[in-house]
Amino acid sequence: MHIGIPKETRDGETRVAATPETVKKYVGGKHTVVVERGAGSAARYPDDAYEAAGATLGTAQDALGAGLVMKVRAPDAAELAHMKAGTVVVGMLDPFDAEGLQRMAAAGLVGFALEAAPRITRAQSLDVLSSQANLAGYKAVLLAAHHYGRLIPMMMTAAGTLKAARVVVLGTGVAGLQAIATAKRLGAVVEASDVRPAAREQVESLGAKFIDVPFETDEEREIAQGRGGYARPMPPAWMARQAVLVAERCKQADIVITTALIPGRPAPTLVSAETIAAMKPGSVLVDLAVERGGNCPLSEKGQIVEKHGVTLIGLTNLPGLVATDASALYARNILDFLKLITDAEGALAIRRDDEIVAACLVCEGGNVTRRT
Ligand code: NAD
Repeated sequence: MHIGIPKETRDGETRVAATPETVKKYVGGKHTVVVERGAGSAARYPDDAYEAAGATLGTAQDALGAGLVMKVRAPDAAELAHMKAGTVVVGMLDPFDAEGLQRMAAAGLVGFALEAAPRITRAQSLDVLSSQANLAGYKAVLLAAHHYGRLIPMMMTAAGTLKAARVVVLGTGVAGLQAIATAKRLGAVVEASDVRPAAREQVESLGAKFIDVPFETDEEREIAQGRGGYARPMPPAWMARQAVLVAERCKQADIVITTALIPGRPAPTLVSAETIAAMKPGSVLVDLAVERGGNCPLSEKGQIVEKHGVTLIGLTNLPGLVATDASALYARNILDFLKLITDAEGALAIRRDDEIVAACLVCEGGNVTRRT
């Protein structure tokens, strides 16, 4: 295949879909690669490194005109205008954005949204949600530490002892577990909550305390198991009991990291405005769910604001703040996915009977092939 790597155009997107390392593998695998000049510069991958890896450099039109285009974000209208019907596009294409899928279908693209890959063992090496959420969880804690006017670890000094910071993590999927691990490494005392019962063991194995919201009915217990590893919306009675416990824990906390998501739905509200008002002055909340509406109604998308003396961090795209590593992992995810849609000669060979391929295929032949 002729592979194109355009520079990402979405505001603040610093990542790139291929690195010199993966380009070298594509070229070795009988593909040809054109990289838009400057495509990797925000992630600190210079043009000459791509050239040395065997790519040619070109314009945005050259990269978008390739038969297979690798993207971080779904192509916007300007990019779609440069892509011809039949182009294969692989990226984080936002499979729950029905309008976006429709636009790509109307442009005649064959779209693979890697976020839609099933959470099965075989898909782990191409799991973009995990590779990026892991970095987001790490960066969330470092951002919080930076904005917190005190130290994280307990420190015994000649001038007196400083107490360890108390960190609460809400939602302990990939991002939440990495946030716990990072906060623990910095010396914090950590507590965490998740709706899925399986999360308890993972939280405790990282040395954090699990905030237990007991189930009162079989229905609650059943819903909490989730589906395909993902959470489902919990009944209001359970959410109300969780809110009381979360409010108590947040009032004691110095840093709160929220990561709770339910696929295809708005993020659940876990930290109310009243709870923020009751938190200690100087405390910090990082809302990693802000792009899906947020776990706290006071956090603002893309902003760092202070309300009731609490710093609320609503920055989106935390992986983009560590773009070099985020791109390296993302590029390897795509490299692995490509093995499922090309053959040893570097030709397109979509394995439609493969459950990962089938789940990721979002549009083809002018039609949206995925239900949102
Ligand atoms: P996610 O980003 O969709 O959601 C983050 C967390 O929020 C989840 O743990 C979810 O249970 C939690 N949550 C939702 N509502 C909540 C509420 N009201 N209160 C507290 N927490 C709430 O999750 P993710 O990081 O994508 O992980 C989802 C699942 O997939 C997990 O079970 C994870 O272990 C699993 N997973 C499996 C694989 C694999 O096998 N290949 C890879 C990665 C993740």
